Amino acid sequence: MLKMINLPYPLNALEPYYSKETLDLHYNVLYKGYVDNTNKTEEQLTKARETNDLSNIKCLEKNLSFFGSGAILHELFFENMGPAIPTSPSVELMEQIIKDFGSFEKFKSQFTAAGAQVEASGWCLLVWVQKWNKLEILQCEKHQDLTLWGCKPLLVLDMWEHSYYLQYKTKRPEYINAFWNILNWNVVNKRFLENKDNKK
Ligand code: MN
Repeated sequence: MLKMINLPYPLNALEPYYSKETLDLHYNVLYKGYVDNTNKTEEQLTKARETNDLSNIKCLEKNLSFFGSGAILHELFFENMGPAIPTSPSVELMEQIIKDFGSFEKFKSQFTAAGAQVEASGWCLLVWVQKWNKLEILQCEKHQDLTLWGCKPLLVLDMWEHSYYLQYKTKRPEYINAFWNILNWNVVNKRFLENKDNKK
């Protein structure tokens, strides 16, 4: 069961920049909805596995991404706000920002523009791309794109047509069945070990 995080400050702590009424609605109604619905989806997934009825799996996976990513991004958002007491990037983070964006002002401009230009509903994020050892700014439309933010991929299967069409045509399940034979669990095991105790 996923539990709601406690806000690290009172509901009126972000006034006047973020009103108590806005935060109340955002935390107690909207965010709560994402957490509740993530739990509901997990229950439905458990039931689907138990009854071996996977007919609704596409909808359940979509819901998991939508509600789960909604919950995770709201937690990160609430947690990276606080009362208007000046704080600043650490020396290390500032060095990285300057390295990757040119200057703090350039970072701020890009982040502001990217946020303002998110198409319809979405998010703006500063992210650390471990693979590239680099900071990037990302826009996120809606909030899921069928992922869970912050998750670590353990086992990856390419479902783009180029990966199977030449050989399996439209028979995706056959391609997936074949894949199980060539999957190297040693690598998955290693990724699992590397990530499972890394809580943050
Ligand atoms: Mn929100």
